[in-house]
Amino acid sequence: MRIDIITIFPEICDFYFQQSLLKKAQQAGLLKLKAHNLRDFTNDKHRAVDDKPFGGGRGMVMKIEPIARAVKEIEKEFYPLRGKSKASSKKSRIVLFSPRGKEFNQKMATKWAKSDQLILICGRYEGVDERVARNLADEIVSIGDYVLMGGELPALIVAETVARLLPGVVGHSEDLIGERITKSKGFLEYPQFTRPEIFCVDKKGKACPPDSSSKQRCWRVPKVLLSGNHKEIDAWRQKNSKVIE
Ligand code: SAM
Repeated sequence: MRIDIITIFPEICDFYFQQSLLKKAQQAGLLKLKAHNLRDFTNDKHRAVDDKPFGGGRGMVMKIEPIARAVKEIEKEFYPLRGKSKASSKKSRIVLFSPRGKEFNQKMATKWAKSDQLILICGRYEGVDERVARNLADEIVSIGDYVLMGGELPALIVAETVARLLPGVVGHSEDLIGERITKSKGFLEYPQFTRPEIFCVDKKGKACPPDSSSKQRCWRVPKVLLSGNHKEIDAWRQKNSKVIE
């Protein structure tokens, strides 16, 4: 799979893509991640990507021309023979980020992970010329009910959520985990604990070794997880896979 991001700040995405498991996944050839500078698709000497809104109002709006050009060229780069053979007629999924969009969730990520290519368009300023949403994008997506300064964080969130569902990207099979927890609450995972079994703080809130002092507060790992009884552990995990309120 390939994920392309169209942005005026490609460095934000490039840096993130060069860390941790995303970097390893690319090195292993499991996916390709690329951020494209929208200004490279302008054709005026100022490399302008925005303009004043028709009808007046505050701020600037991102222009459709460079975005349309970027989408076309990025698709062409991936599907050079598009239309010439059956195999190359597959379509890329084009996603525009907007606080007015449909809220992104794990179900969408699972569906999108089956695509060959995602093209993610990041807005900035007062948003994007609405003709991009109406005519170029397949999906208009929000990552939550709040307004950010740009679509780069949403794009990274979508890229990472989709990437971790691709076979081999994380160290275990998402399918297996999904199978086990689908029975309870969809994709939700259960609470996890690691060493130490008992963690204590003194009355100033500083970590301290457990002793019998009543001035300490200690937090223990649930006993069942230390029991070695996998049937009981599974039952506990199923029961505790729920939304934290
Ligand atoms: N008034 C504009 C609107 O309602 O679309 C706000 C634009 S916002 C300052 C600039 C860009 O950030 C948006 O075009 C979008 O790409 C991105 N953005 C902001 N909040 C977002 C959210 N919750 N989900 C997805 N994208 C968001």
